[in-house]
Amino acid sequence: MELEASARTDPGPVRENNEDNMMLDLERGIFIVADGMGGHAYGEVAAQIAVDVTHRVLLDEHEDPDETRLMRDVDVEDVSDRLRERLRYAMNQASIAIRRRAAQIPGADDMGTTLVVLLIDEEQAHLAHVGDSRAYLVRNSRLQRLTRDHTIVQQEIDAGRLTPELARLVPHKSILTQSVGFHGPVEPDTSTRIVQPGDLFILCSDGLTDALKDDEILQVALAHPPDMLADALVETALSAGGDDNITVVVTHVVA
Ligand code: CA
Repeated sequence: MELEASARTDPGPVRENNEDNMMLDLERGIFIVADGMGGHAYGEVAAQIAVDVTHRVLLDEHEDPDETRLMRDVDVEDVSDRLRERLRYAMNQASIAIRRRAAQIPGADDMGTTLVVLLIDEEQAHLAHVGDSRAYLVRNSRLQRLTRDHTIVQQEIDAGRLTPELARLVPHKSILTQSVGFHGPVEPDTSTRIVQPGDLFILCSDGLTDALKDDEILQVALAHPPDMLADALVETALSAGGDDNITVVVTHVVA
């Protein structure tokens, strides 16, 4: 598939540092967003490690003698099964790397990060995520949320105890049920779908989705060309009062 991608990250008007991180590797079809957390500047460190390690594992450049340890029953004949397992493995390697770094820094025990990874391989898009950074797909002028937040609030929505509207207002909305690093071994949600020309994949941190509802994201997507969309989404989120770090990676399937 021929791909184009653009990205934007902004610390927002309040925070001094940017604990979000991202990666665009057009050649290999790898796109990543991470939103770090932890005291001092450790969130930045965690997000950076997560992006780097995940990318290196997906490029087969990450050496780890324990590689087989995390392998499960995977149908090796099934490429998509193998790639989803690779994503899961990469995220666990990232988690191990963050734990190792945290162990070296006094007071960095709570260092962790969200992670959402899109891997486009030929006509298939593979997704994996941990935490509340999201992936969306815009296709045929509709927006589909491809990820389910790993948050307490999402669990309450699923259980029918909270509506999505109320969930936007509760103070604990960003408490994660799993994160890369802090929670140790992770169990990312993974999925595979066939891509179509014209598809727009949007990866983002919660700085975007706290400021903009899904239908607002769609309106911005429909009003801008793909190469302007990352900028437009961040600008719109800032105008809407977004005060967190905001990161958006847009991948456009050209043909
Ligand atoms: Ca955030």
